[in-house]
Amino acid sequence: MKYRSFIGLEVHIHLLTKTKVFCGCRSVFGDEPNTNICPVCLGYPGVLPALNIEAMRMGCMVARAMNCRIPETTWFERKQYFYPDMTKNYQISQFASPLGQEGWMELEGKGRSASIKKRVRIKECHLEEDAGKMIHTGTASLLDYNRAGVSLLEIVTEPDMETGEEAELFIQQLRRTVRYLGVCDGNMEEGSLRADANVSINFPGKGLGKKVEIKNLNSSRFVRLGLDYEIVRQGELLDQGREVIQETRLWNENRDETAPMRTKENAQDYRYFPEPDLPVFCPDAVFLKSVEDSLTELPLKRVKRIVADYGLTEEQADLICEEKAQADYFEAAVKEARAQGLETKDAALRIANFLLVDVKHILHREGIPPSDIGTLKLTAKRLASLSVLIAGGTVSGKNGKQTLEVILAEDREPETIVKERGWEQLTDPAKIAETVQAVFAEEQATVAELRSSLIGGNAKRTHTLTAYLVGRVLAATNGRADPKIAGTQIEKRIGTGE
Ligand code: ADP
Ligand code: ZN
Ligand code: MG
Repeated sequence: MKYRSFIGLEVHIHLLTKTKVFCGCRSVFGDEPNTNICPVCLGYPGVLPALNIEAMRMGCMVARAMNCRIPETTWFERKQYFYPDMTKNYQISQFASPLGQEGWMELEGKGRSASIKKRVRIKECHLEEDAGKMIHTGTASLLDYNRAGVSLLEIVTEPDMETGEEAELFIQQLRRTVRYLGVCDGNMEEGSLRADANVSINFPGKGLGKKVEIKNLNSSRFVRLGLDYEIVRQGELLDQGREVIQETRLWNENRDETAPMRTKENAQDYRYFPEPDLPVFCPDAVFLKSVEDSLTELPLKRVKRIVADYGLTEEQADLICEEKAQADYFEAAVKEARAQGLETKDAALRIANFLLVDVKHILHREGIPPSDIGTLKLTAKRLASLSVLIAGGTVSGKNGKQTLEVILAEDREPETIVKERGWEQLTDPAKIAETVQAVFAEEQATVAELRSSLIGGNAKRTHTLTAYLVGRVLAATNGRADPKIAGTQIEKRIGTGE
């Protein structure tokens, strides 16, 4: 590699507090414009902000999940700038002592081209208020202040990443983490999670280069594309002996390129000074305990535990853990299946397969997000019971899948459904032999061909014809005959030469 690249991310997440960070206005996406506003978030002179402690608590949860230290005192500063979406002409933010400091996140997973494992240092997490939203129409710019004052947590990394795909994975992992913590919905399209990406390149051993900040990245894919584009663009500049200009650029998703937006301000341009209307916040033991108590098992850890405890592959565990609700469902179902007598790994594999194929398909078909898996009539307990019925040979895999659909439609127990519909698997060899006899009578030509292919040692043909006859036996029993026993009975009958 001719150059080394350095990538640092600034990720903004909307915290799921019911009200805004410094006033009592409702904090929700998609309401009628300018309905959730008050003198405080509109920036009227003389009003007093009051800290929403829940925002501070959620912010500290993320900070701790990122292994940050929470300082003994944390406070707010005013960051001055003029912009129509910020009526006070300053934003209340944190500068000198943010709520979370010097942490790290273990980046681990499959990248697009290589597997990734590295520790990304977190510089800080700070709490601030969001600005309003500007909507540019053809002739006018409209302003919606519903978003002004919404709790925003900014997570700033050190420039420890090197490729677009590392940054993409970082965003995905962070998104999963804040969703697990229940502090952000992670919806990038609605802007609940937004990222600015900083990137520079330099000759190896020369340290950081001149950084460019890419704004307007509303998907993790754009983060990757934008960064990879910038790394190439900056490399070409250096190749030509030219310099990279320190600036802010915008990602243009229609043209797949970045374009200059403005040259970037420095911290001193903002004239930060301590916010005089808010007291310094000193987290006490009770507050800190409430933060630690709310930290659930984080996704990466859970994936590893699920691999170790249940013998699933890394890939299966990762898919199951994509949503916390789904991982909870999985573990509840396995626990129940074990209580009903299945061995752990057998139960886990059966339930994982159901989850990742059939249940996934059902959720998709019904338009239910995986996070709402708990609302299905197909409860974890019912999926466990069904798995037990299949494992014990009471119902065939095929009828088992049909049972799934009936559970969803009729909201009843799998055992009842299987009994009522007569879907209990036929395992009595004598009964199956009777059906085999009837099928042989109807399929004389096939039976004759099967005999000659057996004599001729044509294994492939033998296999095909046997499978066909098994299918006929299954059809004749409404899918109830155990296919293995049907196969044995067919072989037996062929052997007798009848
Ligand atoms: P600013 O004061 O311009 O906001 P910061 O020091 O706060 O800069 O860093 C903002 C982000 O940019 C961080 O994520 C940081 O890791 C990243 N960053 C800083 N300098 C560089 C650089 N030279 N190359 C790449 N990323 C950088
Ligand atoms: Zn308000
Ligand atoms: Mg900064």
